[in-house]
Amino acid sequence: MTKIIVAVYILLLGMFSSATALAQEPYEPVLYYQIANGDSSFAEVQQQSMQRWRSTNGEASFGYTSDIYWFRFAVPASAQARVMNISYPLLDQVDIYIMSEDGLMREYQVGDKKPFSERPVKHKDFVIPLPTSEPLTIFMRVETSSSLRVPVAIWPHAEFLEGQSTGSMAAGLYYGVVICMAVYNLFGFFVSRERSFLTYSCYTIFIGLLMASLDGSGYRYIWSESIWLQDKAIPFFGAMVFMLAAIFTSQLLSLKEHSRRLNLGLATVAGVFALMFVVNLFLPYAIVIKMLLALAVPGCLFLLGTGIYLWRRGHVYARVFTLAWATLLLAIITNSLGYLGLIDGFFIQRYAIMIGSGIEILLLSWVLAIRYTEERRQKLVAQSEALQRAEEMQVAQEEQNEQLEEKVAERTFELEIAMRELQEANAELEQKSSEDALTGIYNRRFLNRQLETEFRRSYRQQSSLSMVMLDIDHFKPVNDTHGHLVGDQILVQLAELLKRQLRRASDTLCRYGGEEFAILLPNTDLEGAEAIARHLSEAVRNHSFDTEAGPIQITVSMGVAEARPCDFAVAEQLLAHADKALYKAKNSGRDQVCPAPTERVAVASE
Ligand code: GH3
Ligand code: MG
Ligand code: MG
Repeated sequence: MTKIIVAVYILLLGMFSSATALAQEPYEPVLYYQIANGDSSFAEVQQQSMQRWRSTNGEASFGYTSDIYWFRFAVPASAQARVMNISYPLLDQVDIYIMSEDGLMREYQVGDKKPFSERPVKHKDFVIPLPTSEPLTIFMRVETSSSLRVPVAIWPHAEFLEGQSTGSMAAGLYYGVVICMAVYNLFGFFVSRERSFLTYSCYTIFIGLLMASLDGSGYRYIWSESIWLQDKAIPFFGAMVFMLAAIFTSQLLSLKEHSRRLNLGLATVAGVFALMFVVNLFLPYAIVIKMLLALAVPGCLFLLGTGIYLWRRGHVYARVFTLAWATLLLAIITNSLGYLGLIDGFFIQRYAIMIGSGIEILLLSWVLAIRYTEERRQKLVAQSEALQRAEEMQVAQEEQNEQLEEKVAERTFELEIAMRELQEANAELEQKSSEDALTGIYNRRFLNRQLETEFRRSYRQQSSLSMVMLDIDHFKPVNDTHGHLVGDQILVQLAELLKRQLRRASDTLCRYGGEEFAILLPNTDLEGAEAIARHLSEAVRNHSFDTEAGPIQITVSMGVAEARPCDFAVAEQLLAHADKALYKAKNSGRDQVCPAPTERVAVASE
């Protein structure tokens, strides 16, 4: 990269300097001067003896002064057509008196305080045609608010033309670069909407205008009609250039992100030059130009310092930026010293800024383009990284969702199992709560519920419902003789026996309590129930119970009752009736079946 920069640098410098090399040396007369005491007339000055004139000893340069200077110099006779060229176009007013040995021949008044159209030759410099053959003496009165420099050269006409075409070529090259860069970066702005392109384009335009006002081509080609603008042009464009340079530097180097202090400094620089722009409208040129030059050097140094600071901190573009500003600064310093009359060298003074700013413009445009490309690249990289991250996040999210769904399914499955287990446990509990612990048949609790259900059904279907109450005869002595365990064994076997005898699925056998059993017989009338009871009674009587104490035989007494449809308002009454019939069976000698009297039941229901 450094090698490329150096190559471009040398190439540009070479192009400018070779283009500005002059074709042939002109005749540069020795100038004599005196400072006018008040405003002397030409007649008075002409009368002064030669002792009162002093030689300029080289270039006539007096810096900024409010004094009026008179010059005189001799021009030898020549057969060729000649012109006199004052190649410093900023002088306010120059009165030229051309004398032959016979006296005053011609008189011209030029200067940029006069309309451009009044110039004898329409040229950006002051060009005066000289009479041929005779030796001449020329007097000049110069009054100016700009730096007072009078670079006079006498040119044979043809050679002046040649030199001019070379100079025009150099200037054309320079302004070409300026216009190209301005337009190129303006398009850059339209395409990218990146503000630094616009700032830079404006900066380029104003630096071009500044250059045009310095070398006189602005007045020649752009604002020939405006003496006012010609007077204000240099400080005006100069202030704009520095203001835009400060803004551009801040944008190019992204100073807001790198150093708030430096950014504030640049904002101040921009502000000061904006102020200069306003001040220029109200103060005379002589004052404003001195202020501007005094501010230009520190302003330029500040921009350069900013570049160096960021360069040392490893900022990528600061290197080229610094080089660009160093070039321009060198040119401006050279130029300023020249204007202030501190250094000699007309060529350096005239073309230094042009060369410096030309190189600067190209380097800055280059770094701007690099920066834009780099930022775009970084943006693209950042974008693709963000995209990748988003995709990764999406994948992770999907994975998480899947895991979550799996977990939910697992939990749901577990929950279903738990529910099923709970239901089973509930069913078991339900069964247990309706089961008699000793015999395994239904208990009294269940009977009560079942009685309600069957009672309602018999009422709905208008069918009969019967109940048998059974009690073991003389069971107490069995217990007393053989023990409770034997009694229990008999109870268990009796329950099994009774269960075996009942055929219908709807018949419900339960242990009512102690050694009493109840049998609920749906769809069975009293006769049917009585028949079943007798059958049971016989089965028990004939059964031999196998116990610890050997085989034992028992008998049972039973009471039977029937609830005809509409017979009973309350289901429990059926039980009571069966119980009463049992009581009757017991009292009638036991081991028998006793039906409940139907008349009584019917009466009770009413
Ligand atoms: P009866 O009914 O013929 O008048 O005479 P009983 O001896 O059976 O008299 P009761 O019905 O009053 O006596 C009930 C007896 O049944 C009392 C008790 O010894 C016996 N018993 C009641 N429940 C159980 C039981 O769960 N296990 C055993 N082993 N015996 C019981
Ligand atoms: Mg009993
Ligand atoms: Mg009994």
